[in-house]
Amino acid sequence: MKIEGITKGFNDRKKGFQPVVGTTDVDIHEGEFITIIGPSGCGKSTILKMIAGLESADEGTIRLAGRPIDAPSRELGIVFQQHVLLPWMSARQNVIFALETDPRTKRSKQELASLADEYLDLVNLSHAADRRPHQLSGGMQQRVGIARAFALEPQVMLLDEPLGALDALTRHELQLQLLDLCEKQKRTFIMVTHDVDEALLLSDRILVMGAGPSARIVHDISVPFSRPREVENLDQDPAY
Ligand code: ATP
Ligand code: MG
Repeated sequence: MKIEGITKGFNDRKKGFQPVVGTTDVDIHEGEFITIIGPSGCGKSTILKMIAGLESADEGTIRLAGRPIDAPSRELGIVFQQHVLLPWMSARQNVIFALETDPRTKRSKQELASLADEYLDLVNLSHAADRRPHQLSGGMQQRVGIARAFALEPQVMLLDEPLGALDALTRHELQLQLLDLCEKQKRTFIMVTHDVDEALLLSDRILVMGAGPSARIVHDISVPFSRPREVENLDQDPAY
């Protein structure tokens, strides 16, 4: 993925145009786990939303496998800080519902249910698959959100402070599960976090953003002792 010269601002009714993200360039390689850290309001979520195709950049282009991203697509999955589950559906039904909207494959109800169970199992929620969101703790709901996003098997997984609202123990457990998921699934991860320890634990590279307005990536740090992961095509990245 190539992020080329993107900038973004918003119009404020009183103050007029307010720049948020200054010119930003970055290459992200297939299979890398990237974290973005930076002060509140510097534009981290805005960058994720542009990558997800939910917001458009004012200038510049974001390309995935050479093609500009200009709309949300199945290649790009996103987990927001707040889990948005459908309250009248069980955990399993929430995952199945997302899978049913995926036009890529036609699968039987049975296949969808077993795929949903497989992903709920990955986040240790097999025992709670039949519970509805109000019967789950915040951490469990967040895990359903993660299972749902992973079940769609996007090429690039975007995570906006997915563990931010959790207590330290649940957070640690989910960090380990994320690590486990990365090992099992070769995907690109781009995660926003405020937690430097989390960034060091999980990522291959940390992008540090400066303070706004017009914030940019000011440091691009490789994590030398990150867990051993094969990063494919690092030199050439022909298909990316
Ligand atoms: P935090 O760490 O608090 O989540 P952030 O780095 O994710 O912050 P963003 O949510 O990207 O920050 O917001 C960056 C700036 O852009 C903020 O000043 C915010 O008010 C502004 N902003 C974001 N989205 C919009 C919008 N849709 N309309 C107007 N302003 C916006
Ligand atoms: Mg944010």
